[in-house]
Amino acid sequence: MTKEYGKIGMLKSMWTYHCPRCRCAKMYKEPFELSNPLNMHESCRICAQKFEPEPGFYFGAMFVSYVLSGWFFVIIALITVFGFGWSVNQTMLLILFLGALTYLRFLRFSRSMWIHFMVKYDKRYGDVLEERHRKAQTSSRSETQK
Ligand SMILES: [Zn+2]
Repeated sequence: MTKEYGKIGMLKSMWTYHCPRCRCAKMYKEPFELSNPLNMHESCRICAQKFEPEPGFYFGAMFVSYVLSGWFFVIIALITVFGFGWSVNQTMLLILFLGALTYLRFLRFSRSMWIHFMVKYDKRYGDVLEERHRKAQTSSRSETQK
């Protein structure tokens, strides 16, 4: 089980698809279904942040994904062609292979990044959960001592 309390950094929160406001709960439904890769919870169960604040909210995520994957593949192509002396066709094959491999990651990550840009982090939720977790631990410890 993933950690349910405490604070994580913005990049980690983006990368692991956490809620942008509390960074405690996950945005996407788990387990992951290949037929429905963008299956999100409607809102966060900790802080009630809506994951689709308005229709078409993720339109901008398309550009994030375009820029990210564009640079990613250009850099790989430059390294293989000029660094390793691969032919353009070999590089193209590798890019197609990597494209298929990273497609869903880019898709989900760009959405996560987009909502992290738009929604402000509120550290109180993390504080409250951390406090609750600490209390639960100390109370269970004192119960076992009795
Ligand atoms: Zn939240």
